[in-house]
Amino acid sequence: MPRDPRFDVLFEPVQIGPVTAPNRFYQVPHCTGMGYRRPESLAGLRGVKAEGGWGTVCTEYCSIHPSSDDEPYPSASLWDDNDVRALGLTVEKIHAHGALAGVELWHGGAASANHYSREVPLGTFSRPAGVWDPVQTRAMDKADIKQLKTWHLEAAKRAQQAGFDIVYVYAAHWYLLRQFLMPSNQRSDEYGGSLENRARLLRELIEETKEAVGDTCAVAVRFSASSGGEDDDQDTAEPRAMLELLADLPDLWDITVHDYTFEMGTSRFVKEASLEATMSWVKGVTQKPVVSVGRFTSPETMLRLVRQGVIDLVGAARPSIADPFLPQKIAEGRDDEIRECIGCNICYTGDQTGTPIRCTQNPTMGEEWRKGWHPERIPAKGSDASVLIVGGGPAGLEAAVALGKRGYQVTIAEARSELGGRVALESSLTGLAEWGRVRDWRLNQISKLPNVEFYLDSVVDEEQILEFGADRVAIATGAKWRREGTGRLLEEPVPGWEGSNVMTPDDIMAGVRPPGPVVVFDDDHYYMGGIIAETLQLAGCEVTLATPANEVSTWTTLTEEQYRIQQRLMQLGVVLETGISLAGVNEASAVLESIYTGDTREVAAEGVVMVTSRLPQDALYHALADRMDIQRIGDCNAPGTIATAVYSGHRYAREMDADQDDKELAFQRER
Ligand code: ADP
Ligand code: SF4
Repeated sequence: MPRDPRFDVLFEPVQIGPVTAPNRFYQVPHCTGMGYRRPESLAGLRGVKAEGGWGTVCTEYCSIHPSSDDEPYPSASLWDDNDVRALGLTVEKIHAHGALAGVELWHGGAASANHYSREVPLGTFSRPAGVWDPVQTRAMDKADIKQLKTWHLEAAKRAQQAGFDIVYVYAAHWYLLRQFLMPSNQRSDEYGGSLENRARLLRELIEETKEAVGDTCAVAVRFSASSGGEDDDQDTAEPRAMLELLADLPDLWDITVHDYTFEMGTSRFVKEASLEATMSWVKGVTQKPVVSVGRFTSPETMLRLVRQGVIDLVGAARPSIADPFLPQKIAEGRDDEIRECIGCNICYTGDQTGTPIRCTQNPTMGEEWRKGWHPERIPAKGSDASVLIVGGGPAGLEAAVALGKRGYQVTIAEARSELGGRVALESSLTGLAEWGRVRDWRLNQISKLPNVEFYLDSVVDEEQILEFGADRVAIATGAKWRREGTGRLLEEPVPGWEGSNVMTPDDIMAGVRPPGPVVVFDDDHYYMGGIIAETLQLAGCEVTLATPANEVSTWTTLTEEQYRIQQRLMQLGVVLETGISLAGVNEASAVLESIYTGDTREVAAEGVVMVTSRLPQDALYHALADRMDIQRIGDCNAPGTIATAVYSGHRYAREMDADQDDKELAFQRER
């Protein structure tokens, strides 16, 4: 189908200093958990984005010197010639598809504790460095500033040597240049105090970088349009005055906001185009092109923002991760096929755990080089086998789509009256509606695959599976929350768990509501405990959320939403009991126990919701395991995130009829 001509504007080239972006689709710098440690993986990932139509593709933050070392978070680096060769691979892959390659030169300043390099952290003044690390920066003197400029220049020259088209001066987030820009900069010399003084280093770096590499490279500045304040009500006065000072000095402004949990907030808290209200003034202050983000998945939103003169380039990190081929799909009038980001931030957990990026919607993300997986291409079937998939959750649906594209004859049998499994249920919880996109994209794909059929309201048993006579069977029947409370901390069932007031998230998602006060016991630590507490509090119950961790939903620090979850629960009046275990359940109460002192206390509870661990629904598999070609996939194999279920379904499909050697060699490793 040809594209709607209204969208032609998105495919116009944009001049950025000495280079020209072939279109307005701009993959802004984003972390990958690969950085300098995994150059081949990185090149494979960025290359696929360029292939999918992103006219500009940038690296993650790229350290200019060992005094800016973010380990254990893996950044890129341009410290020496080896780095030039390594990042050259990325540039080559990006250029192969006619896209521009950008590099975000970075110095962390007080944000870097330098655990790996053991260099002394540098700061505008002597202040705590890293996250909670017990080290401080050295206050940068004039010699340090001079040295910093030399490092930046040398890194810019290396970037040029590696072939990059856009070189960043990175003045956003909580890194060194922003530390200079902020009023908290306590310097009394010409780099502190007045606004002009605080902006001096940024100005000098832009000028010197242009001088050094500006003949072939555009110089971009990443800059925060706000300095504080809440979501849609952020303070933009000082950033505006600074941007006015520097207006046309760089070739491109890449605009963010001061609060990372808003800039890349999860869909539970932050919706599409969220930065618009904060940054829409920027284009009024500069003649230079402006790029900004907003988890854009709708071509209509992109078009509106370009037409209204809010942005020139459609910036994206997550939408390009969930669908590296988003631009090409719009170009070909296939926007209904865009695999829309669901805003879960699983992609960010890769960086936070020092492991390669993964994505809930796109199971090939991070696997481009090490497994040779492509988001749009999959090998044709290796046999004429027919496949029955029992269970239409994320694992079953993804397996069906991938097998269907390979050409296999696929049947899904689903017990419920709708497809989607846990995603259908969880997306009805407060704030999680966008998670339904995991189901919706796959249903749309299935509607285009004549060789994939599904049956609803079909609880399949052992006999029916045998009778159906498929050559292969995938059991994708998911998992159920445990009622007895065993999990991470508790290895034995909680006394009293059989009581009628004990519930699980499955009950709550099925509409059960306790008649009075509730204790939610969260020993799972991801989103479910917090969201069940929020749901029940909003339904009028008085909720106490008890967890053995020292903060609620502690794993969500990795998805950058823990702060917002805890803030929301406190604002709603949920009582938070941290460092607490569940010692027992009585008819109308729960016994809470301090994990530190063992002190116990009874609180009223007409409902106790156990959010602890899940039980795989694998009985069908065990009944048939010795009798046919059958495998478990997704939560029924091992309960995990939605991302692990999708990956599991995809892997099952990819590995069908593959050589045994290919299966055993799980992935290539970088040496
Ligand atoms: P996953 O995350 O692994 O995809 P889910 O729990 O989301 O797992 O989905 C499992 C799906 O399997 C649910 O929709 C459930 O209704 C379905 N299911 C479970 N048992 C059966 C069965 N015996 N026959 C058909 N469908 C089943
Ligand atoms: Fe979007 Fe989640 Fe994928 Fe990240 S992991 S790109 S937030 S769908």
